[in-house]
Amino acid sequence: MIDVKGYAVQDPHSPLAPFQFERREVGPHDVQFDILYCGVCHSDLHQIRDEWGGSIFPMVPGHEIVGRVTAVGDHVNKFKVGDLAGVGCLVDSCRHCANCEDGLEQYCFNGASQTYNGREQDKKTPTYGGYSNLIVVHEDFVLHVSDKLDLAAVAPLLCAGITTYSPLRHWKVGAGHKVAVLGLGGLGHMAVKFAAAFGAEVTMLSTSPSKEEDAKRLGAHKFVLTSDPEQVKAVTGYFDFTIDTVSAPHDYNMYLGLLKTNGVHICVGAPPTPTEVLGFNLIGGRKSIAGSMIGGLPETQEMLDFCAEHNIVSDIELIPMQDVETAYERMLKGDVRYRFVIDMSTL
Ligand code: NAP
Ligand code: ZN
Ligand code: ZN
Repeated sequence: MIDVKGYAVQDPHSPLAPFQFERREVGPHDVQFDILYCGVCHSDLHQIRDEWGGSIFPMVPGHEIVGRVTAVGDHVNKFKVGDLAGVGCLVDSCRHCANCEDGLEQYCFNGASQTYNGREQDKKTPTYGGYSNLIVVHEDFVLHVSDKLDLAAVAPLLCAGITTYSPLRHWKVGAGHKVAVLGLGGLGHMAVKFAAAFGAEVTMLSTSPSKEEDAKRLGAHKFVLTSDPEQVKAVTGYFDFTIDTVSAPHDYNMYLGLLKTNGVHICVGAPPTPTEVLGFNLIGGRKSIAGSMIGGLPETQEMLDFCAEHNIVSDIELIPMQDVETAYERMLKGDVRYRFVIDMSTL
């Protein structure tokens, strides 16, 4: 086994603290890499605090992982020592169900292995994430990262990036569409960048007036302060799609009113508690509420290649490992500009 240094929480009420653990030796199809940067996702916080239920402790969070390859197994042909590499929210899946065969490993019918707070495919061994100095992953779940982009700013593409890219591609969002992005945080700022890059007209719907200038710099054409009823009324029946990235419970009914006939409200945010939806708000206008979870391996590589080609990265605040708790507090207050990334050399 390989000794690893990381940060873990022992239970939902304790802070992150240094934690020693082991990862498996590099197998014939495995890639081992030194983690250089790891993004901080709001999902880390939901899971550390066990807001979704079923969390596995001790937990080493982190699923926006980039670094440099230090060892490869005998049968690995996709990577060599010295290459840049990335790992997102998945480290394995059953590989034979219909979804896995379609490259939709995130929807594996037999349960994909999440990068942390999960189990390997033996359904026993716990997985530990990227708040650590190295990782060993089967090559099929390791992604190529371009050396043309700022590596620290690439890390958030592995979750925030693919989670917003995938639904925009699935619903074929592009020129001629009016898209609302709800919530300007880690996911929201990537949704703005991608929707604008795909040619849509993008409107930021935010609770934070201080984010208007940034929203426009990121590519939004309009900004609506959702606490101002006049501004909200002005976009009634306006949007083809809403990408909802909000992490806390909120009222979907209000936003359904902003959709055109046939409009789709796409949930990517994962609030821990349910919200009531009045059927009439869907019936009147043949509207849909949909959802989308991260993306499969082929699409994640496609997204990373798209970003390299179009020079798209995340806007980040680089922090030392020891500041993560402060970052969580700021994230909870909506004070994120627009993704915290941990510099793993500070571990
Ligand atoms: P984040 O950086 O904290 O951003 C969330 C944003 O939502 C905030 O910055 C804020 O933006 C807005 N917001 C927060 N509380 C709100 C409230 N009560 N009412 C209205 N708006 C509120 O979080 P994130 O990392 O982007 O993650 C967002 C959500 O997506 C989390 O629930 C996360 O677990 C989930 N997620 C899902 C997937 C998936 O596969 N579907 C993947 C990753 C993350 P404004 O200041 O602009 O209002
Ligand atoms: Zn995430
Ligand atoms: Zn499967």
